[in-house]
Amino acid sequence: MAREFRVGHGFDVHRLVRGRALVLGGVVVRYPKGLAGHSDADVLLHALMNALLGALGEGDIGMHFPDSDRRYKGVASTKLLEIVVRMMRKQRFILVNADVTLIAQEPKLTPYYAAIKKTIAKVLKAPQDRINIKAATTEKLGWAGQRKGMGAVAVVLLRRG
Ligand code: MG
Repeated sequence: MAREFRVGHGFDVHRLVRGRALVLGGVVVRYPKGLAGHSDADVLLHALMNALLGALGEGDIGMHFPDSDRRYKGVASTKLLEIVVRMMRKQRFILVNADVTLIAQEPKLTPYYAAIKKTIAKVLKAPQDRINIKAATTEKLGWAGQRKGMGAVAVVLLRRG
C-alpha cells in the first residue's frame, strides 16, 4: 500500500510592542521589543503549528488554543507545539520536513538558527536536518518593514507510518 503523505501550510503575524521578550522558535532573541499576544506570541512556532494542524486536517491554533482560554495566558508556545505533536502521533504521522520563514526587518536571526532548529527538533522528536529556518525582510515596506510587527510562514510535509 502506498504511503500517505500530507502537506500543510501555516501563516501568522503578531504586533511588536515594548515591555515583552521576543521569543522566536522557542528561543529568546535579544531585541528592544517583543511580540504582543495571549501566549508568548512566538510567531514562528505559531506558523509552524498552523502548518502541522493543516496537514492533519485539524483547523488552526485559534481553534485549539483560543485566546479567551486563561490556561493559555502567557504559555510558552513550545508547550502548545507539544500538544500538536501529540495530535500528530495519535494520527500516526511523523515529520518529513518543515520549512519556516520569519518575515521581519530586524534583528538578524542567523545567530539563532541553530538554537531554534534544536528546540523545534527536540519537541517534534525529529532530526535537526529535517527543519529549515530562514528569514526575509520586506525591504522596509509595510508593517514588517516598518517594524510594527513580525510574521512567519511555514510549510510541512508529514508521512503516516
Ligand atoms: Mg499567533
